[in-house]
Amino acid sequence: MKVDYIIVGLGLAGLAFIEELITAKKTFVVFEDDSQTSSLVAGGVYNPVILKRYTPVWNAKEQLKVALPFYQRIEKKLSIKVDEKFIIKKVFKSIEDQNNWFSAIDKPKLSGFLNPVLDSQTYPGVIADFDFGNVNEAGRIDTKKLVQTYREYLKEKELIHFESFQYDCIDFHKDHISYNHIIANRIVFCEGFGIVKNPFFNYLPLNEAKGELLTIHAPALDINFLLKSTLFILPIGNHHYKVGATFNWTDKTSNPSKEGKQELVDKLKKVISVPYRIVSQSAGIRPTVAGRRPLVGRHPEHPQLSVLNGLGTRGVMIAPTVAKNLFNHLEKEEILDVEIDINRFH
Ligand SMILES: Cc1cc2nc3c(=O)[nH]c(=O)nc-3n(C[C@H](O)[C@H](O)[C@H](O)COP(=O)(O)OP(=O)(O)OC[C@H]3O[C@@H](n4cnc5c(N)ncnc54)[C@H](O)[C@@H]3O)c2cc1C
Repeated sequence: MKVDYIIVGLGLAGLAFIEELITAKKTFVVFEDDSQTSSLVAGGVYNPVILKRYTPVWNAKEQLKVALPFYQRIEKKLSIKVDEKFIIKKVFKSIEDQNNWFSAIDKPKLSGFLNPVLDSQTYPGVIADFDFGNVNEAGRIDTKKLVQTYREYLKEKELIHFESFQYDCIDFHKDHISYNHIIANRIVFCEGFGIVKNPFFNYLPLNEAKGELLTIHAPALDINFLLKSTLFILPIGNHHYKVGATFNWTDKTSNPSKEGKQELVDKLKKVISVPYRIVSQSAGIRPTVAGRRPLVGRHPEHPQLSVLNGLGTRGVMIAPTVAKNLFNHLEKEEILDVEIDINRFH
């Protein structure tokens, strides 16, 4: 079997890169071993504003310009609905917090995102001592539905192997590489936190940031916006909500934990006052990087090997842009932005 590319990992990064390959009519085969869960459990929220500090997300406007049409195209191609637009309502903690909102509105990169008219309504079951600030142009991609449907689509076309990629089976030749019976021009590793097992790229400084979420059923809560307080409450229909997320920098497993659940339950007490039932709990490891910039580029000694990783807490917004950057770098010799190029670690 001869292909242009072998792709290792089918989360948001792998999916976005494969879309570039399909558009350019390149051939490929994918390996996916279900060892990481980040793209399956993600809240999937895209929000152009860091609400803790009222600062813009890095390149938010540019990323949204690429990401929204990207998800729209996939919705059409796979006949699914995964993009749901909504307003994010920030619960202000204090008058000072509220004033900071108004100071931020004037920042050019935030214009259009922070609504200058505050919301002073009350919402049954929501605890709020101050007004709410509305963030425009936000929404959610149902990443689980997206990734699972995409895997099915590749399976039908016999383009995906559900098995672990074995790094020691790569043979390097002058103008190609071989992996068992597959001959390829290039391999792109999109392994999320699985990169720690990759002998070619585990020198890169990827940190684990485990995150946990609860799905709850709260019959008396009826909101159609994302509520952002010390945690987020995201409506997913029929009075069901996703609640999250935790940050744990030491636990390297993707298993839901008692501590994670307790932390979310404790925080939730301060945000809603209505009864609820926990339906499920999920966990995954966000592939984060100090400096919050992705890891993109070719291996310094094996240029046939590339990496697309470090999407951190914002894979939904970043993945389509950096996948395009990597594709153009490999196929059109476009220079990578120094901020994302893995060469910054040499
Ligand atoms: C609780 C939680 C909430 C989050 N909420 C949001 C959110 O609201 N918005 C947002 O934008 N982002 C969110 N994120 C972050 C987001 O999930 C990540 O940025 C993104 O999913 C990373 O995608 P990825 O493809 O790089 O990695 P992954 O999703 O980890 O995918 C890597 C894939 O590679 C496979 N793999 C690894 N090694 C091998 C191997 N050797 N062989 C074969 N397959 C392999 C893994 O099984 C996995 O499927 C959240 C994450 C968590 C954990």
